[in-house]
This record gives sequence, C-alpha cells and structure tokens, in this order.
Amino acid sequence: MTLGFGASRDVHGWAARLIVGLLVIVPASSAAQTINLARSTIVDLTHPLNARTLYWPTAPSRFKLEQLAYGPTPGGWFYSAYAFSAPEHGGTHLDAPIHFSAKGATADRVPLQQLVASAVVIDVSARAASNPDYLLTVADITAFERTHGRIAPGSIVLLRTGWSTRWPDAKAYLGDDTPGDASKLRFPSFGPDAATLLVRERRVAALGVDVASIDYGRSTDFRVHRIAAEANVPGLENLTSLDRVPATGALVIALPMKIEGGSGGPVRVIAIIPR
Ligand SMILES: [Zn+2]
Repeated sequence: MTLGFGASRDVHGWAARLIVGLLVIVPASSAAQTINLARSTIVDLTHPLNARTLYWPTAPSRFKLEQLAYGPTPGGWFYSAYAFSAPEHGGTHLDAPIHFSAKGATADRVPLQQLVASAVVIDVSARAASNPDYLLTVADITAFERTHGRIAPGSIVLLRTGWSTRWPDAKAYLGDDTPGDASKLRFPSFGPDAATLLVRERRVAALGVDVASIDYGRSTDFRVHRIAAEANVPGLENLTSLDRVPATGALVIALPMKIEGGSGGPVRVIAIIPR
C-alpha cells in the first residue's frame, strides 16, 4: 500500500512518499533519503495554544477557548466541546506568501511540498545570546555549508536563536511588552542578505525561526518577509525545541490550518529525526 503526499513531484524536483511506516524523501539530484518511522524520534516544534500564547503587540485579540460543554450528559456519557478564535499570526504559525505579497499564495494554496521537506538547522544561539539584534549573515550560511554541505533546493531552513526558552514571557521574548506598541521590539532573526541567498540562490522551500518574526525585532521595513513572499516562500514563526533537531537529516512536517484565502494561521510543526 502506498500513500502519496500530494503530487509526486514539485517545482524543486522533489518527491515524497509514505510507504507503510517508511517515509522516502527523494531529492532529484542525489540518493533517496529513507526515514524508518520505527527508528526515528519525532520532535514537536510547536508551542501550545493557550491564554499565555504570544501575539504581535498590535494584534486585536489573543487565542480564546470558550467552553461549550464539559461533563456528564443526561444520557450518562461524558461530553466536551469548545469554540476557539485567534488572529492568524500568533503562537507557532505560518506566514503565507500573501502576508507580504499581493500575488503570493494564500495559506490554503502553499504547495504541500514546501511544508513537508528535509530541514537544515543553522544555530546562531551563541551569537544571539550576546546580541539580541543579531542578524543571520551570508558568512554564517557559508560557514554552515563548509561543515554540512550546500543547502539543497527545496530544504526548509530553520534558524535557531535560542529565544524559545524565553517563551511565553513577552518582555523577555519580544524585547518589550507594551500593549499595542510594536516599536520597541528586540530579538534576532534572518538578515536580508542571508534571506536573499537562501531564497533566490539556494531556492529553499520555507524559512523557519524560533522568534516571533523572520525579520528581527527592530525591523521597520520587513525586508526578509518581502524577499521571501515575493518568491512564494512561506515563513514558520515562534518555533520551539530547535535544539533537539540536528543540523541536517531531519524531515519537517509543518501543516497549517487550511484557511481558505488566509494570510497564515496556526501550524503544528514536527521534525522526524532518524535515530
Ligand atoms: Zn506571521
């Protein structure tokens, strides 16, 4: 029995197939990567959604869970149900390309091949620890590639700043906790030159980061968002546990709520790591 993952081939020439517990990732240009689910660790890279979930300071509301039912029914069985609501861009979430590009894909139309792909993790946590304005540089990528090889087209690039340990303390995580004011935020992220290299030359599938934005906190022009969106590259923000994902070799699955016409939305992100 074979279950296909969307189309068998995408624009980057990748194919992914799930074969009864074996996930076979086949980059067009090199040998197949087989992940045996029985011999893999699955790591959750997602913060829970709850009353403490962080949103952009200007968001009009937060995650809300309203209890509709909880307890024994007249028939004698237990029953619970809730209604939830939230802005798209908070907690661990997807930025669909249309978030910063009028012609970009909406949340429901981001190709699955860009959300299920091999991942690389670039670790700048040591540098970010001493500089909350740290921006990933081209030199960081070059150094990463010297050790781990060239980043393959269609990869999901995850940037580890170490900031997820500050979650959900708004002041520590965002740099400022003034309600309604996003002008004093401070946290590290991708730099525009590095993003240009990743998006235009390496042709990566998505950019992910363990801070609130793929642009750093002090950004006022959101250049990384614009560079990525223009190339239909989605973002994954507010990730966690990137310290548990190796620099190469993991498969990431990042499936957002399928909000038709949406600019993003909550996403459950996991990494499958061969043992
Ligand atoms: Zn966002």
